[in-house]
Amino acid sequence: MIPREVVVVAEHLGGEVTDTTLEMLACAHDLARSVGWRVTCLILTDNPKPFQSLPLNADKVLVVKDAGLGTPNPAAYARVLPHVLKDLSPRLVILGNTSLGIDLAGPLSFTLGAPVVSGCVGVRAEGDRVIVTSRLCGGKLQAQIEPGDGLTIVLLMPGTGHRELGMRDEVPPFEIRSSPAPLESLPVRFLELVEPKMEDLDVRKIPVLVAAGRGIQSKDNLGDLEALAKELGGAVCATRPVVDQGWLPRSRQVGRSGMTVKPRLYLALGVSGAPEHTEGMKGSDLIIAVNRDPEAPIFDIAHYGATVDLLELVPILTEKLREAKGGA
Ligand SMILES: Cc1cc2nc3c(=O)[nH]c(=O)nc-3n(C[C@H](O)[C@H](O)[C@H](O)COP(=O)(O)OP(=O)(O)OC[C@H]3O[C@@H](n4cnc5c(N)ncnc54)[C@H](O)[C@@H]3O)c2cc1C
Repeated sequence: MIPREVVVVAEHLGGEVTDTTLEMLACAHDLARSVGWRVTCLILTDNPKPFQSLPLNADKVLVVKDAGLGTPNPAAYARVLPHVLKDLSPRLVILGNTSLGIDLAGPLSFTLGAPVVSGCVGVRAEGDRVIVTSRLCGGKLQAQIEPGDGLTIVLLMPGTGHRELGMRDEVPPFEIRSSPAPLESLPVRFLELVEPKMEDLDVRKIPVLVAAGRGIQSKDNLGDLEALAKELGGAVCATRPVVDQGWLPRSRQVGRSGMTVKPRLYLALGVSGAPEHTEGMKGSDLIIAVNRDPEAPIFDIAHYGATVDLLELVPILTEKLREAKGGA
């Protein structure tokens, strides 16, 4: 019989599951609900307590507890997971397309003899068939892949699901097991956690972002964008070319090699919408794009758009917002 279980391998730090984990749970839940499968959230840790009363959107939370699982060490995970997954024998294992997930996918694929689909931006089931959408050529192409009936490992891109759907109203059943494999003499040791340097503000926490693309043309025009962001109660972020030119610090860069943001409003000004950029902002609640080129790919994901010159629009918009506030 074809297995009907999806296992999500949780990522966590400091006792908190990551947004990517919640997104993976949301995707797994969607898939499982449509075909009546079950979702198990698998957490590897030395301390199950912070997870015990979390209302994670899964049919079950299974914790593997061991002192050697106190830090996210891929070598430790790679030792434990094959045993646990053989025991659960799921149809799908969902990992994040993150440094941890990428480190794990190869060893797991080898040990379990399972195919890996990386760069996934969607996964669904139709009857007993699983269909995975995977990004190719840096996101310029998408492939629909239908793995066979056996176990498949899927690496889900951060930002794919809605993280708020990774939680539900009730706490799922919770089981704790000890590690099925010894975790001494691992080939990789955890030395220290180095937090990324926040040179100024953390754009991931700002609800309104005004994004400066190369279309702003000169550093001198940033002042106008800052003024607009201020009126909107937000901050300015940027595409990579803007950061590469040193117009804004690296901490403001959004995209594959920058931050992943999900603000309430993302106002993209002079941003073409390259996949490396949209990967970091396409989960925003509301995307408004301003670009002179009506063919710019940013309009494919924008909720609203205007094909006007941003350099003319921004000062007028700022002034109108000021007036509206003054008149309120
Ligand atoms: C491995 C890798 C990682 C990368 N990581 C990132 C990343 O993290 N973040 C990122 O952003 N990029 C990243 N890139 C670069 C990415 O591929 C694009 O080159 C970049 O996003 C383009 O930035 P842009 O939209 O500002 O510039 P452009 O693509 O040059 O677009 C400028 C846009 O502005 C419009 N425009 C010009 N003047 C005006 C005007 N006056 N009014 C209105 N519109 C105007 C133009 O029509 C154009 O569409 C990465 C690339 C690689 C290969």
